[in-house]
Amino acid sequence: MSLRASLTEYAASLALYDTHQHTQLEPQPPGGPGMWGLLTGPYVYASFHLAGAPLDAFATQPETVAEEWAVFAPYVPAVETCCYFRHTWEGAQMALGIEAPELTGEVYAEVDALLRAAQAQPGWGKRLLQETAGVERALLDSFWEPTYLDENTDLFDPVLRINGFVMCSWEGSVDHNDNSYWRYLDLLGVEVTDFPSFLGLYDAMLDRHCRAGAKAIKLAMAYDRRIEFLPVDRATAERIWLAGPQAATPEQQTVLQDYLCYYAVGEATRRGLPVQIHTGILEGLRNYQPTHVSPTLLVPLITAYPQARFDLFHAGFPYARELTVMALEFPHVWADICWVPLVSEAAAVQILEEWIDILPGNKILWGSDCVNPVITLGATIFGRRTVVEAVARRAEAGKFSEKQARRLVEGILRENAKELFYR
Ligand SMILES: [Zn+2]
Repeated sequence: MSLRASLTEYAASLALYDTHQHTQLEPQPPGGPGMWGLLTGPYVYASFHLAGAPLDAFATQPETVAEEWAVFAPYVPAVETCCYFRHTWEGAQMALGIEAPELTGEVYAEVDALLRAAQAQPGWGKRLLQETAGVERALLDSFWEPTYLDENTDLFDPVLRINGFVMCSWEGSVDHNDNSYWRYLDLLGVEVTDFPSFLGLYDAMLDRHCRAGAKAIKLAMAYDRRIEFLPVDRATAERIWLAGPQAATPEQQTVLQDYLCYYAVGEATRRGLPVQIHTGILEGLRNYQPTHVSPTLLVPLITAYPQARFDLFHAGFPYARELTVMALEFPHVWADICWVPLVSEAAAVQILEEWIDILPGNKILWGSDCVNPVITLGATIFGRRTVVEAVARRAEAGKFSEKQARRLVEGILRENAKELFYR
């Protein structure tokens, strides 16, 4: 057996530790169940728009399956070769045992019927993750609701998303997901009367998550603002907060957010929780400055907390070498390839090859980063494949032995996340 085949077999045998999921086991609106839900969900819908589908093409689900197909059909030849489509399609193929190589109108109707029947079975999504995808544990970032705690504790561990605190200094403000910690005063038994009690709102949320077994906090502020956070003294932050939202200039609001971000990271670190940070491209079609999400902007925050452990996401794509340098300079930074294989397998392989050369093998992480369990399955196929490809290329070039190659594969897909989050 070739080295590549042997590594492929080995990767398939590994129970995955996934650093980053948003998986909702039951199909959720707006996509809902069936093929319409798959193809209008993250990330593939963006490819259809890029290929020419109008921005309102998916606003209303058509009445019949044939009409659904008519919405997608003109663009399928353009999108079916890109990774956003392929991981979705490969996930569906494996989940449902579909042999058809291509998506046609006839296949669409057939897959839709199979998918709806499967989704109607209680526990199907969970079995898909545990048995078909081979996921042992996954860190769940519930962007739709920061207080959400999934009951499937034998699979998911909660991650606390902090945007609803950092971006919501005052009551009435919301983050990019329309969330705010201010909505949970009753749930958390907190009354905010001054600045310390506002900070206490975060403490209460964090403690609730810790009691539920949280494994990390998540900073997704790249979706809200530039990710450079500078140190601010407490008195300055308190003065801005006390003056209120009407008095604060945009610059002062940013200063206050910076303080809250440091506070959130400091309190999580004090409780032993690693800090996951979104860097690089944003999901979907958004109006943003790519330079505002590059990993090196995090240097002030990361150097301020040498005792913290930072998991930097998405390889900072397209600024992968910036992230590499962060992981090379700072012992408390881990490099996470999550999502990148779904953007581009080719890019992920190239980045991983460089990381394998540059970083110690125990600092490289992988995560799937999908919402629908069928697509998460696709992400695990792409994850295993890209990791094996990158490791096999280096091993076949004679850089290390098969035994060392296996240790890398096991580390990236499982052991490194286990060590970072579960030790
Ligand atoms: Zn994500």
